[in-house]
Amino acid sequence: MGNITLSQVTKTFGDVEVIPPLDLQINDGEFVVFVGPSGCGKSTLLRLIAGLEDVTSGKIEIDGQNATELPPARRGLAMVFQSYALYPHMTVRKNIAFPLKMAKMSEAEIKKRVDHAASILNLSDYIDRRPGQLSGGQRQRVAIGRAIVREPAAFLFDEPLSNLDAALRVGMRLEISELHKRLATTMVYVTHDQVEAMTMADKIVVLRAGNIEQVGSPLELYRTPRNKFVAGFIGSPT
Ligand code: ADP
Ligand code: MG
Repeated sequence: MGNITLSQVTKTFGDVEVIPPLDLQINDGEFVVFVGPSGCGKSTLLRLIAGLEDVTSGKIEIDGQNATELPPARRGLAMVFQSYALYPHMTVRKNIAFPLKMAKMSEAEIKKRVDHAASILNLSDYIDRRPGQLSGGQRQRVAIGRAIVREPAAFLFDEPLSNLDAALRVGMRLEISELHKRLATTMVYVTHDQVEAMTMADKIVVLRAGNIEQVGSPLELYRTPRNKFVAGFIGSPT
């Protein structure tokens, strides 16, 4: 399951309200993209869901359970960081296994899950290499593998492709979409790239200064943008 409900969630840093009261429903299995200009609060919203930031007020429910006060590790979600968050001295296997070791899972179960993730991600031939011996795309797959092995209720991605070159980005976009189809698990994906949003999302959440300007499918936003901001944002790729 991967239903996430935000009710009247706010976030204030100092005396700046970065997220005004916000309601959002993310349904099990959906690929939801948060899109909006730099500084609009996309990362903050994702970090609130992940539990890496505490809400100032409001409530976050995950599969019907109140998760507002739960620490990140107990929310059943997995954040996919950019590939530079890998441990350079560890092999691919150890990098992917890391969260399971922390959770004190048995070696047999860890091996099973890592082998499975590596096979899904076409990393089996690279399992004993270190990140420095991999391409940018392979490194990003390792970062995704580290999330897959935790079998999360939802994957949370914060601009995972932004440090890859343009050609690689297109390929990884397709790979993540394929992975979503294969796993059928909720994915929440932050980007400032309209093309990523339009091509990957089931549901796009357009943010502006912490406010949701519109929520809808790519086609809905394209055909019936609610205002000029949404129209300009969806209509004008950078
Ligand atoms: P985005 O990911 O859309 O670029 P962020 O969520 O990173 O935007 O930031 C939204 C706003 O919140 C920005 O104005 C940013 O400066 C501010 N902000 C984010 N994190 C912090 C923090 N830890 N302390 C103070 N201000 C923050
Ligand atoms: Mg950000």
